[in-house]
Amino acid sequence: MKLYEQDNTLTAQHVKADKQADAKVPDGLWQKCPKCGTAILSKQINEFATCPNCHYGFRISAKQRLKWAVDRYSDLDEDLQTKDPLNFPGYPAKLHASQEKTGLNDSALTGEALINDEKFGFGVMDPTFIMGSLGTVTGEKLTRLFERATEKRLPVVLWTASGGARMQEGILSLMQMAKVSNAIAQHSAAGLLYIVVLTDPTTGGVTASFAMQGDITIAEPHALIGFAGRRVIEQTIHQKIPADLQDAENLQKHGFVDHIVEREHEKELLYQLLKLGGAQDGK
Ligand SMILES: [Zn+2]
Repeated sequence: MKLYEQDNTLTAQHVKADKQADAKVPDGLWQKCPKCGTAILSKQINEFATCPNCHYGFRISAKQRLKWAVDRYSDLDEDLQTKDPLNFPGYPAKLHASQEKTGLNDSALTGEALINDEKFGFGVMDPTFIMGSLGTVTGEKLTRLFERATEKRLPVVLWTASGGARMQEGILSLMQMAKVSNAIAQHSAAGLLYIVVLTDPTTGGVTASFAMQGDITIAEPHALIGFAGRRVIEQTIHQKIPADLQDAENLQKHGFVDHIVEREHEKELLYQLLKLGGAQDGK
């Protein structure tokens, strides 16, 4: 509670977390951590966008993450566009709005990056792009990421964030799970390292496929990680599930996550891991 030791008058602003609270970083003077309920002065939120009390990482765009997650990067496949295969009502307008907002063509940014002198293929899913949903373009970008990395003998770091498959692309969305998984299998068979960083939220088909296929699985504090949502599970099994069932900490306890790392230490940890199992391209 360091925040309140600095200024006692803030205590009155300390409000309980609203379970439905939007976890995006809102504009305004105050922000409320959706995990621990701490009210935070906006100007006290650092470049990592984390809660000073519980270290929860707010949902941030792919480009915001890359500012601190890597030293340098170049993107690839930003020209790919979905064909709106189902002619889904309102989909082109929704896509356009997300493209304008994020500066991305779809829900993942991929390419090559450096942390110090360690080169790797990277992918960052963007939870602000139609909930980070997995459609044909993101599936293709991630597949190409692993295929290129296999060819160039590079390790891959993938930051996942997703609400699941993109319903506007129907079955074609679901097919991306198998497609990306296959490219990962080839990357793995070539003896190359794949590190996945699970961020809030990683759910649905993404969890059911490539988010769980890493050689090393890292998660950010209090990230929501699961397949079906809480309400769907409870309605299906007709009982309440524990409040922390889908928290990163609980998943670590049960062996699904290797390590939980605060954003402030993420780059250094990745660097150490990449040094151990990094690029094999004879650089
Ligand atoms: Zn918090």
